[in-house]
Amino acid sequence: MAKEANSFLRVVGRAGIFPGMEPARTTLGSWDDARCSRREALKLGLCGLAGAAAGLLPGCGGDRPAAAGITAGRELPDDATWDLWLRRGWAREALHWEPGNAGAACCGLCPNGCVLEPGRRGPCRVRVNRGGTLFTLAYANPCSLHADPVEKKPLFHFLPGSKSFSLATAGCIFHCLNCQNWEISQRRPEETKDATGPELRLKAPLPASLSYADMARLSLFPEDVPAIAKSLGCASIACTYSDPVAFYEYTLGIARACRTAGVKTIMVTCGSIQGKPLRELAPVLDAAHLDLKGFDEGTYRRLNSGRLQPVLDALVLLRQAGVWVEVVNLVVPGWTDQRDGIRRMCAWLAEKVGPDTPLHFSRFMPAYQLTQVAPTPLETLLQARADARAAGLRYVYIGNVRDVPDAATTVCPACHKPVVQRDLFAVTKLDVAAGRCRHCGAVLAGVWS
Ligand code: SF4
Repeated sequence: MAKEANSFLRVVGRAGIFPGMEPARTTLGSWDDARCSRREALKLGLCGLAGAAAGLLPGCGGDRPAAAGITAGRELPDDATWDLWLRRGWAREALHWEPGNAGAACCGLCPNGCVLEPGRRGPCRVRVNRGGTLFTLAYANPCSLHADPVEKKPLFHFLPGSKSFSLATAGCIFHCLNCQNWEISQRRPEETKDATGPELRLKAPLPASLSYADMARLSLFPEDVPAIAKSLGCASIACTYSDPVAFYEYTLGIARACRTAGVKTIMVTCGSIQGKPLRELAPVLDAAHLDLKGFDEGTYRRLNSGRLQPVLDALVLLRQAGVWVEVVNLVVPGWTDQRDGIRRMCAWLAEKVGPDTPLHFSRFMPAYQLTQVAPTPLETLLQARADARAAGLRYVYIGNVRDVPDAATTVCPACHKPVVQRDLFAVTKLDVAAGRCRHCGAVLAGVWS
């Protein structure tokens, strides 16, 4: 045990707070699942920084925190848990809702537009109606923390080579059949946290070590995030892994605190959010990675339990608000790999969001409820990239592949020479100076310094 702790201390200084597994899977209350995910990630070569630390996890083989106050079949936490969560600040009144009839709460955060009767919980799992008031249970209680390369978001045109302090709570607006982070996205916050025991508020300077049991009772308030990001050498923070819309109040608080402190904020999202809350959030966001999961309403409904049009509206709104946006499209065989749909999506992106919008095609790997679907063939991805370029998009990438040499290379659209070369999530060559190509001087779209 002592040896494990020492190993952890070393790794804390090198790679972040919770090293040792693919960070998005650093999930409390699901240790067995997390171990499985780490194996998958290692097999796929996706571990990046964390891969070097595999096997050094604290709590390995036990120390699995219990989720307090969970009663099977109940919508809300029991009274004792509720009081504790209120005192910790993890439960607080939500933004963007209004009272309805007979104590109902009408939520205006995402396009689901839920009308929740007292005692009911939204499908996002984090918003509940208690006594006629809508509360969020996802405030200041992250279940995943890590310092990632910004390329891992992925963002290729935003402070390349920098690190981003990345965090998530449980819950998500969508319920994707192929979710890679279902261990946290498809959980209630109470399943990842345990407020019992001494309060532990994370602040800079960071403690020398944290166990999984510590993490389960840990609070991280927005005003403490910028100093932690700086202490880890991160130029930005990223609300990511599950979906920052589901933990909207926390995301907004973090973005405001970071704007004041001079730290950039990134949102990695499915983009399923109503216009009013997004207009409130966008002015304090610096960059967004948006998952455009396809270009067909029916597929969005069946594959993701969501809708396409609000996502397209969010993309346009973010762009108009001056947020740097990169788009990811996961090509799922049999679901989102139809060439016609990909072509229409690329044409829409070029016209409505702009030809300088980076588009990352991502290779599907079997996950969650789509384990029977084979990985995306390389030919499909290469064809998609060719179609995107033909549609006028200037920066097109292929992710989750190891055997396409230029898949992650940025090419200057003017002189066609490589300006940024990457190996997995590391920048290996950067020929960009003051936002311009070092070869020909052309302006390159992005936020480079
Ligand atoms: S955020 Fe969306 S899913 Fe959650 S309660 Fe509000 S409308 Fe419903």
